[in-house]
Amino acid sequence: MPDVLTLAREIGFEGCAAFDAAALEFRREVREMCAADRCKRYNKCWACPPACGSVEAMAARARRFSRGALVQTVARLDGDFDAEGLAEAQRLHKRRFETLARQAKILTGGACLPMGAGSCTRCVRCTYPSRPCRYPERVHPSMEAYGLLVADVCALAGLKYYYGPGTISYTSCILIN
Ligand code: SF4
Repeated sequence: MPDVLTLAREIGFEGCAAFDAAALEFRREVREMCAADRCKRYNKCWACPPACGSVEAMAARARRFSRGALVQTVARLDGDFDAEGLAEAQRLHKRRFETLARQAKILTGGACLPMGAGSCTRCVRCTYPSRPCRYPERVHPSMEAYGLLVADVCALAGLKYYYGPGTISYTSCILIN
């Protein structure tokens, strides 16, 4: 049976590496950055703070797992203002991660915790806060929503966070036992 990293390589992620989930640091300051709302998604989506739960509650969910698989989509951009290139790389990463999360759940019998990149964009308009999430089983709050600094987790896994000028990378992970 393949493992999560083998699945990730087959799906096409440019970066794939294991890390020790026991070494993760769940930081309140990361959640404070979410609250600064630079991405304009704070308090607008079930997958994002504050709706996703407190950093303590999120950390408790994550601490049930001992290992992690970090995955990255790394793309080359056409200049500094390649908005379409950025959007395309983000779509590709979300598609790949959706596939990986689905396969990892099958592989582990549901005993895994996928953490996405960025806010949930599955629905054109999120139902938050007036109605329940349409797809609660398929929503994967971001690493930042768990209070993780993505650059730190990359360092833990031995992967780069930044691949140099003219590139963009998107990073997600799946915790397992
Ligand atoms: S699946 Fe839809 S309703 Fe649920 S968090 Fe994502 S955008 Fe919102």
